[in-house]
Amino acid sequence: MSTILTLTQGDITEQAVDAVVNAANSSLLGGGGVDGAIHRRGGPDILAECRALRAGHYGRGLPTGQAVATTAGRLPARWVIHTVGPVHSTSEDRSELLASCYRESLRIAEELGARTLAFPAISTGVYRWPIDDAARTAVTTVRAALAAAPDAFDEIRFVVFDDRARTAYEAALAED
Ligand code: ADP
Repeated sequence: MSTILTLTQGDITEQAVDAVVNAANSSLLGGGGVDGAIHRRGGPDILAECRALRAGHYGRGLPTGQAVATTAGRLPARWVIHTVGPVHSTSEDRSELLASCYRESLRIAEELGARTLAFPAISTGVYRWPIDDAARTAVTTVRAALAAAPDAFDEIRFVVFDDRARTAYEAALAED
């Protein structure tokens, strides 16, 4: 069975999926935007697991482009997959790191057996990545990863907050 790619405008913390991806920062200890919303709605268990990760394998923080999972606390999901997007730069091409966030999140999700996954528009908030380019990177990277794992997932849901982001994802999804 093939995976469907869908687009939803709304709050990522309300998505009933197996795993929600968090646009985290490398501290794993919370922040604004998606990160703040996930910890607020998900409750303290997520932060406790993040602290344990910092005390263990990720003592120096989670590197940009990598991903790690915790449970999802009170969110209507089973897991949160935390990934650290790159801050957008005009002097350096960091697209590979942004693509890596999507690939690594999918890899972790597949390991967990998560079949439905919700992605926010990683790096497009505080990290200032232009939304059209971010949307194209998200869609092309996910499509390429799915081609290599055609049976791993049922649905990959892109969740956007505002109209501008929705338009960007609609355009990216309409491209071949
Ligand atoms: P980053 O630090 O990676 O840029 P942000 O959380 O600041 O991450 O923003 C990423 C994107 O998520 C932005 O486009 C922002 O509008 C959107 N966003 C913020 N809060 C939510 C939410 N609760 N649900 C879905 N998208 C959100």
